[in-house]
Amino acid sequence: MGRKFVVGGNWKMNGDKKQVTEIVETLKKGPLDPNVEVVVGVPAIYLEYVQSIIPGNINVAAQNCWKVAKGAFTGEISPAMIKDIGANWVILGHSERRTIFGEKDELVAEKVAHALENGLKVIACIGETLEEREAGKTEEVVFRQTKALLPAIGNNWANVVLAYEPVWAIGTGKTASPQQAQDVHASLRTWLSTNASADVAAAVRIQYGGSVTAANAKELAACPDIDGFLVGGASLKPEFIDIVNATQ
Ligand code: PGA
Repeated sequence: MGRKFVVGGNWKMNGDKKQVTEIVETLKKGPLDPNVEVVVGVPAIYLEYVQSIIPGNINVAAQNCWKVAKGAFTGEISPAMIKDIGANWVILGHSERRTIFGEKDELVAEKVAHALENGLKVIACIGETLEEREAGKTEEVVFRQTKALLPAIGNNWANVVLAYEPVWAIGTGKTASPQQAQDVHASLRTWLSTNASADVAAAVRIQYGGSVTAANAKELAACPDIDGFLVGGASLKPEFIDIVNATQ
């Protein structure tokens, strides 16, 4: 089953105009493996600017959006606005949105549904906390988070990438071992074949995220059920190129 490797850079709330310009310059130089789909998650205020200077082989994602098209939602942006400036992706359900901003499974699902209805592609993030892992609840948590997304996604799985990001690995320098990541990715695929369909399970791309660097990317990329990465800290650095090229 040919699942195209997909690497996302999640810049989070980092960078200024000068730095985002430099990152785009670095991406332009690459060279980026043409067999890899690349998406950069840009702070909302720089979305239109980055979209205007980025080469066409790189996709631009918002890091969040709201669940309706327009109206009295101070501070929010809609999928229609993201599309209006030419970007086609959004990252939803990131653990920072879930923990710092209190987004629950249901809200994440509503956002995913609305984004898909409006033609955006979605990187939907799931993952357990350290406490949950230590309590042996990793599968329970990621299955619950994914289950909440099923009705939202419906038969639109082709426009969804799942990002498995163990919360204890995000920004901590503690990467999941390739085996730990592979195990969760494989059980997610098995769960999806029962709860969505065998076709969805075989085709959906599952990214790993959490302290991915140029140093650990190759080993992780070699795992059969890891179909890409969602990269935070290292996506601001030139080593992002090596992470994109990790399957070469
Ligand atoms: P990190 O972040 O690579 O800095 O750990 C990953 C993420 O939050 O997507």
